[in-house]
Amino acid sequence: SLKQFSSILPRGSLAYINGNWAESRSRSVFPVNNPFNNELVAPTVNCDVDDAKLAVESARNAFAKWSRETTARDRSAILSRWFRIIEREKDNLAKLLTLEQGKPLAEAKGEIDYSNSFLDWYAGEARRVYGQVVPAPVLNREHLHIREPIGVVALITPWNFPTAMIARKAAAALSVGCTLVIKPAEDTPLSALAFAQTGEEAGIPKGVINVLPSDRSNSASIGRYLCESTDVDAISFTGSTAVGKILLSQSASTVKRVCLELGGNAPLFVFPSADLDNAVKGTMASKFRGSGQTCVSANRLFVHSSISKQFVEKLKTAMSSLKTGNGLENGTTQGPLINDRAVAKTEELLKDATDKGAKIVLGGSRGIGCCFEPTLITGITPDMRIAHEEIFAPVAAIHEFDDETEVVGRANSTRSGLAGYVFSKDQSQIYRVTRSLQVGMIGVNEGIMSCAEAAFGGVKESGLGREGAGQGIDEFTQWKYICQQH
Ligand code: ADP
Repeated sequence: SLKQFSSILPRGSLAYINGNWAESRSRSVFPVNNPFNNELVAPTVNCDVDDAKLAVESARNAFAKWSRETTARDRSAILSRWFRIIEREKDNLAKLLTLEQGKPLAEAKGEIDYSNSFLDWYAGEARRVYGQVVPAPVLNREHLHIREPIGVVALITPWNFPTAMIARKAAAALSVGCTLVIKPAEDTPLSALAFAQTGEEAGIPKGVINVLPSDRSNSASIGRYLCESTDVDAISFTGSTAVGKILLSQSASTVKRVCLELGGNAPLFVFPSADLDNAVKGTMASKFRGSGQTCVSANRLFVHSSISKQFVEKLKTAMSSLKTGNGLENGTTQGPLINDRAVAKTEELLKDATDKGAKIVLGGSRGIGCCFEPTLITGITPDMRIAHEEIFAPVAAIHEFDDETEVVGRANSTRSGLAGYVFSKDQSQIYRVTRSLQVGMIGVNEGIMSCAEAAFGGVKESGLGREGAGQGIDEFTQWKYICQQH
């Protein structure tokens, strides 16, 4: 079934090491399934630590040339060419993404566009990675601060944005001269391979990008190796907080640069002055994209009690127009959850909440395959699991509040701190709330805020470092100070 993708995946579901599309040394494979119907999409090569060693060696060898024998302008030109190839292949890339991930085709195309915007952005940033000449405190001396690429970077990425979570890191890292070993999520490795293939076509040299698909158990051993290897200079990870903590501690022995984009628990506030239609629109966008499986999804909807009845009515109406099903079918707005485990967790959270008095206003059950009905639940109280855990499903959970200071305190009483959303027309309130919220990103009267021009990332246990914007360059470069006497 991969034949239809021959322009982006000519060698099928193999590993990509040192510019070779290779079978794993172990020659074992693991299944990549379509989460809508559990049908096999392709048996995929299952890489192991020996493959990872080869990939790191080739990235290490390629680093000397890529960082020193290409100019920023050369790298920029390759990223621009890559951007045009992805434009050409957008429909194919989106279809492959939907097949292995389940999200609606329109969202998959949106993800490819979003991914490509990072190639475009960093093609520009590559040429503006400036250093500094600093006035020296003594005569006859010149002080320089120059920026150098950090080296070989290992990317470990999740299944919710199979292409974008790679592109956002890769574009920045490649633009400054780093080389990559990519370990994609076991649920969605094909999009990673296709991304690498389009990069090869654009002229990325051998060894600069390596891709190691593997199953879950090999992921753990490959991950450990990448963290502990002295030939890997940085780890850039997007995924769960639990795995992020493992990687951070494994990286301690080599004092690696570690960039982490971890779980969120986003609060969304609807204050009395808010334009309710816009608040519903923002909630729909933030809550239901990817069927609620994004780390910036509104997880706790804090709605002022004076307007909660109206807001819930309007949200219910908007949610009723959602259509759950096969992402490849026209009109589908909600794909399946990624696997059975995700469905079971959603059912548990809802049962715990209703046992403790919450009310399901819409939805509440499983559909075909791994689909889950868009669900609206009210009367959430702090003793419920759903009030604290990342839901990662199409479940809108309404928490009522009366007092601004109290609700901001409640919102901050978590170890997560990724995104937050504020719907209000009161400028002083917007000022107070945006400054007191302990998160890395805030949307004010806006539910979708991520783009290549913005610094994406979290505080507290939601992560370390930023992706996108000029800040994205910081993760993959380091400063060198040169003090020269004349
Ligand atoms: P999710 O819960 O969204 O699946 P995970 O954090 O489990 O997120 O997975 C994100 C990425 O981390 C995937 O590529 C997965 O293979 C990888 N991974 C999972 N466990 C480990 C581990 N122990 N060490 C290294 N990588 C891991």
